[in-house]
Amino acid sequence: MTDLTDAVSANTFLASSVSVRTLSQPLAGRRAFVTGGASGIGAAVVRTLAARGAHVVVADIDTAEATALAEEVGGSIWTVNLMATEALTDNALATALDGVDILVNNAGIQRINPIQDFNPADFHNILTLMLEAPFLLIRAVLPQMYAANFGRIINVSSVHGIRASPFKSAYVSAKHGLEGLSKVTALEGGAHGVTSNCVAPGYVRTPLVEKQITDQALVHGIPEAEVLSKIMLTESAIKRLVEPAEVGSLVAWLASDDAAMVTGSSYTMDGGWSAR
Ligand code: NAD
Repeated sequence: MTDLTDAVSANTFLASSVSVRTLSQPLAGRRAFVTGGASGIGAAVVRTLAARGAHVVVADIDTAEATALAEEVGGSIWTVNLMATEALTDNALATALDGVDILVNNAGIQRINPIQDFNPADFHNILTLMLEAPFLLIRAVLPQMYAANFGRIINVSSVHGIRASPFKSAYVSAKHGLEGLSKVTALEGGAHGVTSNCVAPGYVRTPLVEKQITDQALVHGIPEAEVLSKIMLTESAIKRLVEPAEVGSLVAWLASDDAAMVTGSSYTMDGGWSAR
């Protein structure tokens, strides 16, 4: 008699017609698509998915960085401005997403201003990039995932998708919306082999955050180390930044067959910040 453990491991490492997924290559034969994949968290996700066997499409507005990374990991690129949603037609998306079974919605930007001073165009653009574009990509990729009875959608949210922060009205609104969209996708996709989850990091060591550290050190006239200890990490239990590769590992696990029963969830990776 096959016990549950045997059945699960047999499923986990089932050979597809072209590739055998193994412990070290759990994503072999999978095709992944990572928005904002040229830098920071997205680049770490690209490297981790590729190291675990996936073919990865780096989708980014920055063609030079995307090309360099795609060459490094043996992937491919899609140059795209995800704010220009009028160009994201059904045909364009169907071509770009052809054969994709792991979609990572990661591209994002930040603007900091009190609401009364917040430029409405900035608010609109951030919502477009960080909520409407993920919706359009999910909408476009689901039919083929349903047909394959397999799909993994991983949305890079933030602790600000769960807890608000002053002066980040657009970012917080977009991330809260993304958390909701991810759950709806999970509910609709569950019967078709498609899972949808968020990862919600705290401060991650990316170019974006390194610039914030430098800026704050100048503004407050304190060393950069004190920006971390006295401003950014005061509420964190583990007093360091998250490394991009750590987010990459979480995304890779959510993309794997091992996470087949994980859907509609949001995984914080914030050193305990949101537990307080
Ligand atoms: P990053 O600036 O290092 O990378 C963002 C990438 O998105 C870049 O490659 C950029 O070219 C691309 N991009 C920006 N605008 C685009 C557009 N219009 N079209 C296509 N691509 C575009 O940023 P990061 O820190 O790696 O952040 C990645 C994601 O992680 C974002 O969604 C961010 O909100 C989220 N996040 C970051 C942190 C952090 O501390 N860095 C924490 C939580 C969540």
